Amino acid sequence: MCNPIFGGVTLTRFGSETAKAELLPALVSGKLKFAMALTEPDSGTNTLALRCVARAEGDGWRLNGQKIWITCVAEADKLLVVARTTPAESAGGKTRGISLFLIDRDRKGLTHTAIEKVGTNTLPSSTIFFDDVRVEPHELIGTLDGGFRELLDVLNTERIVTAAGLVGTADLALRLGVSYSRDRKVFGKTPIGSYQAIQFPFAEAKIYAEHARLMNYKAASLYDQGLPYGSEANMAKWLAGHAAALATDRAMQTMGGMGYSKEFHVERLWRDARLFRIAPVSEEMVLNFVAQHDLEMPRSY
Ligand SMILES: Cc1cc2nc3c(=O)[nH]c(=O)nc-3n(C[C@H](O)[C@H](O)[C@H](O)COP(=O)(O)OP(=O)(O)OC[C@H]3O[C@@H](n4cnc5c(N)ncnc54)[C@H](O)[C@@H]3O)c2cc1C
Repeated sequence: MCNPIFGGVTLTRFGSETAKAELLPALVSGKLKFAMALTEPDSGTNTLALRCVARAEGDGWRLNGQKIWITCVAEADKLLVVARTTPAESAGGKTRGISLFLIDRDRKGLTHTAIEKVGTNTLPSSTIFFDDVRVEPHELIGTLDGGFRELLDVLNTERIVTAAGLVGTADLALRLGVSYSRDRKVFGKTPIGSYQAIQFPFAEAKIYAEHARLMNYKAASLYDQGLPYGSEANMAKWLAGHAAALATDRAMQTMGGMGYSKEFHVERLWRDARLFRIAPVSEEMVLNFVAQHDLEMPRSY
């Protein structure tokens, strides 16, 4: 996604007054678009193992490395780049040595190539190469070497925004599927929507969607109050991913062959919704988080 969170949260929470004054009005008006370059081919989900390096040079840095699956690169004006600024061995702690930079997308040495993907094709997702890309001193956002903890605020708010979109997807798929089931008659004059085999999975998806909505409101409200909200944001994203997957799949099933046709919306919703069981955080990593942080179980990896 070209998500305003990537600039909005970083700037409001960690930006200098100059950066806020310059960038926030353009962000709010939609003139300035932001992408986030976190994921790398080798480290994947394990952010602390990332290899993209920002080496100090004069008053700024030089970026080298590769990112993958970065959405909206071509459309974005600014990239939130997560890079290592101090080697893990000498950083003084497992989560230290990583920093955030908000850089211009248009920069010498930065190249990107779109990846062919199953869905979410309204915005391309790309591989990025940083080849000695200059980073200016004012482009560091937040604390040098302390970016990992600050990044969590970006990732958790991204989960809230993602969950909101997924609840909307579930709502739409339910509307389309239920409406089709009201009209479609196959055996005599009885619409297929009168069969429990059609109704129950829709009802189940509706229950997931309403739970996701409520948990997401809770996460957003905690965030607004400045209270811890990581567990709620993760749970909301997990629930919403399930709700959207279930609702889109059942809408497709209910529409039979027509559900598989490109003529209707449902096949696109189904393809798009599948992504969100993997990204921006996978279901497994949410379950790891809940087991560890909410149930205080040992870390398994
Ligand atoms: C279309 C698309 C758009 C994206 N957009 C962006 C973007 O804009 N910016 C960005 O930075 N990234 C983006 N991503 C990357 C996305 O966040 C990652 O794909 C996702 O976090 C999973 O990482 P990975 O693909 O490296 O999987 P891996 O880390 O290789 O994981 C593979 C599988 O193993 C499981 N797994 C790994 N470790 C564990 C464990 N400890 N316990 C249990 N299971 C585990 C995972 O849950 C997953 O199912 C995008 C991805 C896609 C596909």
